[in-house]
Amino acid sequence: MRPEKGVLIVLSGPSGSGKGTLVKKLLEQRDDTVLSVSVTTRQPRPGEIEGVHYYFRTREQVEEMIAEGSLLEYAEYNGHYYGTPEPPIKKWLEAGKNVLLEIEVQGAEKVMNHRSDLVSIFITIPSMKELEQRLRGRGTETEESIQGRLQVARQELSRAFRYQYVVLNDEVDRAVERIQTIIEAEKMRYAYMEDLILEVMNDAQAQ
Ligand code: 5GP
Repeated sequence: MRPEKGVLIVLSGPSGSGKGTLVKKLLEQRDDTVLSVSVTTRQPRPGEIEGVHYYFRTREQVEEMIAEGSLLEYAEYNGHYYGTPEPPIKKWLEAGKNVLLEIEVQGAEKVMNHRSDLVSIFITIPSMKELEQRLRGRGTETEESIQGRLQVARQELSRAFRYQYVVLNDEVDRAVERIQTIIEAEKMRYAYMEDLILEVMNDAQAQ
């Protein structure tokens, strides 16, 4: 059978929605899926590794990438650039791998505006109260930063309608299962199954 083309998956959700954990679990379960590594101008957090979590770059370097058109999308978030390098994505999709973009809503909308061959998923929390509890539970945020994140979360939730699917993250394993269901359904779309149909038709002619 010919290699199938992979699915481009755009995933967003408010800070504190647990999307990082969902992505990590999903990648553990699917060896046909890779996570796109973004460039960013923000400083690495403790434990973050260059080329694994991000490519950490200067503003000048990112602006050069923007100018030469090598980013699929980019956005400014919290005073820093974040962007998705395009060349590896093309390569992975052609190799039949699903590629996951874990990006914020402005960048996600840019990708949705110039590509239709993708599946978009918005991760939501059950309530703002729950989100507030999760953010406080981290124990690392000041009151001002918590209020700021809640405000951004409200803005992000108001863009959820742009996404094809909304996944409720009330419980990690169930949320991962929901994402799995979406990927499986997406792979059954005609565009991904066309090669099989053509093969079956060829078979029928040969007989
Ligand atoms: P953090 O600084 O917490 O790692 O990420 C901040 C936000 O930037 C998150 O919502 C994350 O999904 C988003 N982000 C990470 N990489 C990219 C990217 O390449 N493009 C865009 N538009 N957003 C990104």
